[in-house]
Amino acid sequence: METIAERLKSVQLTVEQSTLDAHRPSNSTKLLAVSKTKPVSDIVQAYEAGQRLFAENYVQEGVEKIQKLQTLDDIEWHFIGPLQSNKTRQVAENFHWIHTLDRLKIAQRLNAQTATGKMLNVCIQINIDQDDNKAGIAADELNSFAKVITEFPKLRLRGIMTIPKAKQSPTQQAASFAKMAQLYTHLKAQYSAVDTLSMGMSGDMVNAIQNGSTMVRVGAAIFGSRN
Ligand SMILES: *Cc1c(COP(=O)(O)O)cnc(C)c1O
Repeated sequence: METIAERLKSVQLTVEQSTLDAHRPSNSTKLLAVSKTKPVSDIVQAYEAGQRLFAENYVQEGVEKIQKLQTLDDIEWHFIGPLQSNKTRQVAENFHWIHTLDRLKIAQRLNAQTATGKMLNVCIQINIDQDDNKAGIAADELNSFAKVITEFPKLRLRGIMTIPKAKQSPTQQAASFAKMAQLYTHLKAQYSAVDTLSMGMSGDMVNAIQNGSTMVRVGAAIFGSRN
């Protein structure tokens, strides 16, 4: 069986090769290691192999891990799951990023609950395939929602995120990723802090990078499949 360090290495190589194939600079696609459901010892293994960006989906599980790993203080923690308003404080206090912002009420709470001197990095989630099962705002709501978000002093708008519909051909997924890339280019031209197009997971990271992703969120390919 391959170790976490070996799988991480192979994902890093895939990410780098796809980035170069897409005619983008070396190291310009970031790799988020999605450690949801996996033990703290797995995170430590990836950390020791050099990984510094980690993502969690569930507030309570994530906060427990962050607290246990406090001594590894150069980890950047990303929240990538659905967020209910009664849990915003834990995200504001423990995470550096949230990728799934899609509601004004959540933004208001995160802004109010982020400590003085800290900025919370946010990506707006887009439901690019208009999938009833997916969270996120519609693509045509992005301009107005982004404007509101950038007015909150504690939130730093870094970009947009999507999870494409699962049962699609690679060609259909590429079309969804390409639509995201267009939205991203437009947003980046308006707001100087925007530098992140968060899309691509274990099964579709190459496709996502070919279509402009700057940050892939990879779980199973690094940590093994989840139950
Ligand atoms: C679980 C999850 C991932 C990682 O998925 P894998 O298929 O394990 O790579 C990425 N993004 C989100 C939002 C997730 O929930």
